[in-house]
Amino acid sequence: MKLWKKFITRFTIFELALIALISALGIAAKPVVASLGHVLTAPLLIPGGSVIGGLYMMWIVLGAGLVTKSGAGTLIGLTQGMLIMFLGFFGNHGAFSLVTYALPGVSVDLVLKFMGHRVCCPLCSFLSGAAANITGTFLVSSIFFNLPWIALFLCLSVSMLSGGLGGILAYLILKKLRKVNIGTLNYNQENKKNGGDIYK
Ligand SMILES: [Zn+2]
Repeated sequence: MKLWKKFITRFTIFELALIALISALGIAAKPVVASLGHVLTAPLLIPGGSVIGGLYMMWIVLGAGLVTKSGAGTLIGLTQGMLIMFLGFFGNHGAFSLVTYALPGVSVDLVLKFMGHRVCCPLCSFLSGAAANITGTFLVSSIFFNLPWIALFLCLSVSMLSGGLGGILAYLILKKLRKVNIGTLNYNQENKKNGGDIYK
């Protein structure tokens, strides 16, 4: 619990509000995106999530880029999992939703941390979205679909591409927002003191 407190107090109230907003928007958009995905993928007999999943992951990458602190992706994933679980919403897998939603968020945080980037260029945006969607698809397909390995491989390749494109979409949105100084990368020592990353 102490660790959680230390983790959560790194975020300002504004950042937590942003995280909640992004999480809720992602969930609200989900039924539309999901039914579209189902129409596209039902004839192919593969989990629709792998193709359209990139659009879910877009929100995590967007949030990670807006908040600019490690852990933001994880928090968005956790919040979305909790929303899904408590609302009994579309695509609810019960308590397991927490894991299938939180872990893609962890992937985004890990990729950005490892690269030392913050949704600042197409490459890190693509890779973080791809990692998130591969994680999500792998979790869902290994537990809810008993796919032969070749189909799983196909699914994971598709989800990499879809997640990557979702990441790029997040990057393009952020680029527009940063032009009007929202989620700007011009961070300073003040932000560093508050636990954020600094950029030149
Ligand atoms: Zn970058």
